[in-house]
Amino acid sequence: MNNQAHKLIIIAAPSGSGKTSITKYLLNKYPILSLSISAATRKPREGEQNGVQYHFLSESDFRKKIEADDFVEWEMVYQGSYYGTLKSELQRIWDLSKIPILDIDVKGAIHLQQQFGDTCLSIFIEPPSIEELKNRLMSRGTETAESLANRVNKASYEMSFRNHFHKTILNKDLAVACAETEKLIKDFLGW
Ligand code: 5GP
Repeated sequence: MNNQAHKLIIIAAPSGSGKTSITKYLLNKYPILSLSISAATRKPREGEQNGVQYHFLSESDFRKKIEADDFVEWEMVYQGSYYGTLKSELQRIWDLSKIPILDIDVKGAIHLQQQFGDTCLSIFIEPPSIEELKNRLMSRGTETAESLANRVNKASYEMSFRNHFHKTILNKDLAVACAETEKLIKDFLGW
């Protein structure tokens, strides 16, 4: 393993803040970064495949993994849906001498930050406003009225945790936010 072995990068943000787009940009540009594929109990959306976007698990399988201490963190992110980072997934990436990049919710991110301290870099991606976030979620077309309301309410709550992160990026303009995030990562990795 190289000296980057046990570092990790956490990108957290309310749903619809653009964190997935920023993460994709980073993954395309830096092959040393590898997306940590979480386990989740929600139903796959159209086009999603098991083992690609998530390891889709039944609730009972997820609970078994909690019992077995297989997760480095897990949360019930939305009512009834569990999401978690498997220890084996981080290890798989470190074993490839790569650096895991995690796209996870705010609470999970804070838990990981408590465990990893300065060996991780936690970045909070902030939407310009709750209104803008709502528009983005609506244009994505993947949410029902109920799940949209759920995500918007949760977003306001999550915004209150922004100061717990190592760094914050305001995503007003995606290209600018990508460049700023890239700079933070380069500094963290000493490039
Ligand atoms: P979605 O259902 O839209 O794919 O994701 C819902 C939320 O769950 C997103 O905010 C995403 O970042 C978060 N999430 C995904 N994987 C994990 C995980 O392993 N742990 C935690 N705590 N949150 C996760």
